[in-house]
Amino acid sequence: FDLEYAPAPESSSVVSIADSYSLFIGGAWVEPRSGRSFTTTNPATEEGLAEVAEADADDVDDAVGAARAALDEWSAWSGRDRAKVLYRVARVIQERARELAVLETIDGGKPIKESRDVDVPLAAAHFFYYAGWADKLGYAFPGRRPRPVGVAGQIIPWNFPLLMASWKLAPALAAGNTVVLKPAETTPLTALVLAEILQEAGLPDGAVNIVTGAGETGAALVAHPGVDKIAFTGSTEVGKHIQRELAARDTRLTLELGGKAANIVFEDAAIDQAVEGVVNGIYFNQGHVCCAGSRLLVQESIADAFLDKLKRRLDTLRVGDPLDKNTDVGAINSLAQLDKIEELVAAGVAEGAEMYQPQCALPERGWFHRPTLFTGVSLSHRIAREEIFGPVLSVLTFRTAEEAVTKANNTPYGLSAGVWTEKGSRILWMADRLKAGVVWANTFNRFDPTSPFGGFRESGFGREGGRHGLEPYVELEDLVAT
Ligand code: NAD
Repeated sequence: FDLEYAPAPESSSVVSIADSYSLFIGGAWVEPRSGRSFTTTNPATEEGLAEVAEADADDVDDAVGAARAALDEWSAWSGRDRAKVLYRVARVIQERARELAVLETIDGGKPIKESRDVDVPLAAAHFFYYAGWADKLGYAFPGRRPRPVGVAGQIIPWNFPLLMASWKLAPALAAGNTVVLKPAETTPLTALVLAEILQEAGLPDGAVNIVTGAGETGAALVAHPGVDKIAFTGSTEVGKHIQRELAARDTRLTLELGGKAANIVFEDAAIDQAVEGVVNGIYFNQGHVCCAGSRLLVQESIADAFLDKLKRRLDTLRVGDPLDKNTDVGAINSLAQLDKIEELVAAGVAEGAEMYQPQCALPERGWFHRPTLFTGVSLSHRIAREEIFGPVLSVLTFRTAEEAVTKANNTPYGLSAGVWTEKGSRILWMADRLKAGVVWANTFNRFDPTSPFGGFRESGFGREGGRHGLEPYVELEDLVAT
């Protein structure tokens, strides 16, 4: 299929943003029963972009009712017909790529080159990929009969709004489920455009419903007895809370939570590539990435030389207007997130780590943070233990591969890790021992719809992507013939 990247958006003028957005329930745009709305803001300018409806428990109830009503119809469609819709969704995402990329960037703060080259094409790729499974579910689960789970409640975060919606919707729909999706409160816009796209592609009314709002809206979805499965991506704290809420019910659950990934550079690595990989690992999307390589473990023998190169590379990063095609590090998604990052950076300094920041100018308005690097970090420091979710790298050193494994695993999380070495046997040795759902070798932050992604321990459970990503959305029946 055609994965060609969309042409670079020239300006935000290609996007028309409505003054206000309603809820998308049963294939119609409806005013919220709550009568409430919230403002979504451009973090690079601090200006309000639009008023967005805030769904309360009654609105969520309407959405779950619409998803339930659509379930018989959508699940009875042939896999081939479901596939056609999903292929069309992918095509329309490509056709509207410019608009989606600009909207993602102004609503969330990420650099336009990332929205354009990563988020939007990968979102399309997920729909293409799962369209391919819709009429082949029998091959995905040989000898068993996959049935849809039912109504899925999906709750997503703000760091990859369109992509997370696509990760969640595509496998659920391919397997014949219907959905109520709740986007994050700081980045609701692209999910609402996706609703339009789904409708344009021929999805039956009610098969996907979008309820915008904050944590209370998500909590109402989790509490609703008509939801058969919850898929949550977000913080470990909220994920654990949801797990406790659902403990007494038979609602199925998958959790994609936080991380504190180690990016491990051995002395025999291709150093220039590793520098790029470390930079991409932590400064991509301002570090608002669950699998961000927020801890650099560098072998002691090359540490000084490597850090010199890394600092020089940091000096070249362009921080600023996310709509500028040359920007590498955009705006921090919200003021609350900026406060959290600044608090942890201050803790790093107070605990005695040495801070390095390029002295680039920051825009006068908007929420920005310089790319930051800490050396002299010890495992007990907060910046080595806590997820910062910002452009902040903590550097540790190691002497042996065993020590690298021990330090990398010294975290309650287990989402991802990176290993940089020219020795193939060492990559396998490390991958066997690292407690991480994903181990990248000589690359980092590389995503593909064909590969399962997810963590264990405090990073959650369940996988998204690949054939594994269908599993949470099917009940498997065994057919026994006499
Ligand atoms: P968050 O947990 O605050 O919010 C995530 C979503 O949950 C939002 O839509 C929010 O409105 C909703 N929510 C909040 N409280 C809720 C409640 N009580 N019940 C139901 N829903 C509720 O997280 P965030 O700050 O939006 O996102 C950042 C976190 O997400 C980071 O910790 C990051 O590591 C994690 N994350 C993980 C992955 C992954 O795939 N593992 C991907 C992206 C982000």
